[in-house]
Amino acid sequence: MSTTPAMPIPGLIDPVPTPREVTPRADGKVDLVGLPRAAITRLFEAAGLDAKAAKLRAKQVFHWIYHRGVTSFDGMTDIAKTMRPWLADRFVIGRPEVVVAQHSSDGTRKWLLKTADDHEFEMVFIPDADRGTLCVSSQVGCTLNCRFCHTGTMRLVRNLTPGEIVGQVMLARDALGEWPRAGQADLAALGDDMVDEDGGYSADGRLLTNIVMMGMGEPLYNFDHVRDALKLVMDGDGLALSKRRITLSTSGVVPLMARCGEEIGVNLAVSLHAVSKEVRDEIVPINRKYGLDELLGACAAYPGASNARRITFEYVMLAGKNDSDEDARELVRLIKQYKLPAKVNLIPFNPWPGAPYECSSPERIRAFSEIVFQAGISAPVRTPRGRDIDAACGQLKTSAQKLSRAELDRLAEEKQAALG
Ligand code: SAH
Ligand code: SF4
Repeated sequence: MSTTPAMPIPGLIDPVPTPREVTPRADGKVDLVGLPRAAITRLFEAAGLDAKAAKLRAKQVFHWIYHRGVTSFDGMTDIAKTMRPWLADRFVIGRPEVVVAQHSSDGTRKWLLKTADDHEFEMVFIPDADRGTLCVSSQVGCTLNCRFCHTGTMRLVRNLTPGEIVGQVMLARDALGEWPRAGQADLAALGDDMVDEDGGYSADGRLLTNIVMMGMGEPLYNFDHVRDALKLVMDGDGLALSKRRITLSTSGVVPLMARCGEEIGVNLAVSLHAVSKEVRDEIVPINRKYGLDELLGACAAYPGASNARRITFEYVMLAGKNDSDEDARELVRLIKQYKLPAKVNLIPFNPWPGAPYECSSPERIRAFSEIVFQAGISAPVRTPRGRDIDAACGQLKTSAQKLSRAELDRLAEEKQAALG
């Protein structure tokens, strides 16, 4: 059940619909992926187990699902053989369906996925020398209309459920062959060098080491589901990824930023992209509701931010729009004014068909970066990855279009004419 109420927001769809509950399966079985231990326990009790048995079985099943990655009850070897068909008659362990899997020439991988009720969304894996980052979607489409973003041209179809969000991480582990092998299941058994300070896996020998909530959608407009999914990702007996290796990116949903820090505790990235009201209102329209002052104030108050754990400001480089030396100096001034423990990530604009902008020149990007860097703030330029398969930042899009006002009017007229 969702606990966060819908909020009125700018954009073509207003307010955000409350997250839908999972559509019941046609076969009446319940998908356990996305559920915490307590919910699994309750389901087992409701299906007839006594309280003690339900708790024990839920603990075992939770471990097999999230820690070992099994997708069938048959593989749960510490559960009695007679019990396994009982579970299989009532429950399933699902995954999002893979529609297409693509490989970029630079090693980036993109998956077009489908929900059980036929909505398509995307997930991207970006391998690097020292890490592998999975870019996870939170919604099918987006209510917001950032002008440089291809996802922004989609309407919001619906929020993804916790199972569909954590399911992306599980599917990536399937595809990369990265579930702990038998005998390696216990974190303790891995030895200190494989376990980092929060009890999660360290990078050694792993392909998938980091998660960014930077796929399709605005994660803070699906707060409850994103939180519940990330809790499973961080659970030491679940996927066991440290919160330090997870980053949530928001376009600036100010009222939920503090809760993100308190209830999820992951790193924060903020899509800043402009330093004046005029330009940010235009390119990141949520700014008309939550302005720069409120946004930077919320960043200064973000729970857990410190010099050791800085907030990332994402800044897309748009030629002639937000990329002048003056913009760079104003960015530095704002970071200092609000005393923000910050780093800046400069993102060369990734083009898509019909986009109203062009990317700044490499010299302009370098000059901008240099000004920020000279002020003592780290300002690396993000290397575009997976552009050849439309997997780079801002290129993700599936089929659900946002209709323009004129198109909506035309459709309404046609409907009237057909009725009359
Ligand atoms: N909705 C969230 C997270 C998804 S977008 C957000 O807006 O923060 C991940 C990052 O890619 C954001 O900083 C977004 O502004 C940026 N982005 C969007 N379109 C882009 C494009 N065409 N080129 C480069 N970056 C883009
Ligand atoms: Fe939505 Fe983020 Fe794209 Fe803006 S940049 S339209 S918030 S996905």
